[in-house]
Amino acid sequence: MRFEVITLFPELFEVLDLGLLGKAKDAGAIEVTTITPRHFAQDKHRTVDDAPYGGGSGMVLMPGPFAAAIDHLDTERGGAPTHRVLLTPQGAPFSQSHAHRFSKLETLTLVCGRYEGFDERIRSFVDEEVSLGDFVLLGGETAALAVIEATARLLPGVLGNQDSAADESHADGLLEYPQYTRPEVFRGRAVPDVLRSGNHAAIARWRRKESLRRTLERRPELLEGAELSEEDRVLLDEIASET
Ligand code: SAM
Repeated sequence: MRFEVITLFPELFEVLDLGLLGKAKDAGAIEVTTITPRHFAQDKHRTVDDAPYGGGSGMVLMPGPFAAAIDHLDTERGGAPTHRVLLTPQGAPFSQSHAHRFSKLETLTLVCGRYEGFDERIRSFVDEEVSLGDFVLLGGETAALAVIEATARLLPGVLGNQDSAADESHADGLLEYPQYTRPEVFRGRAVPDVLRSGNHAAIARWRRKESLRRTLERRPELLEGAELSEEDRVLLDEIASET
């Protein structure tokens, strides 16, 4: 999959050379191209921002250099389609379902803002707007990195063990069950007996129940959207009777 990033700070994407994503790049599973709108600025100072019409603080990103960067990427791709996403605190909260949807694309183009944000007309060049959460960052790069990482790890060959992505928080609308590794007892806290029992059916039941319990305790609203089986409802009744 190809990720294209329009950013004033391409260097920030060098972290993608590290770890599993670095390996995925080397193996050709993902390709990351960055482009800076400064290349398309019209003056010798490579200006990409200007004061807001109507006054006010800060500088606003001009539409011209961003539109030119988008056109350049389209030409580089030979006109092949892409899906353009603007990173903005005004967008829809980014979620695992976005990551799943994006992971089916051949190309995803991420547009990162800075300063006071974009000239409103940049919005007409994108297909959707996504936010990393209800807070304000200095720029869209951190959000774009999160989108790339969450999307890329769903692609075949990126995670060492593909089951990891199927069996974790948000994969099926629930939070993941508690995980343990050695030692068996750590500072007086023991691993639950069932996990050392070797009884795979009992382990699966315990994990599902703890996944439901954790979701109920921490993110009860997720249960409303999750697909629950009859067995899940029995487990939820058990949890209710225990509390
Ligand atoms: N003035 C803008 C507003 O109130 O919506 C915020 C501008 S912010 C300082 C600069 C840039 O950072 C934004 O254009 C956007 O690209 C990025 N950004 C900030 N917070 C973000 C968030 N929560 N999610 C995604 N991008 C964000």
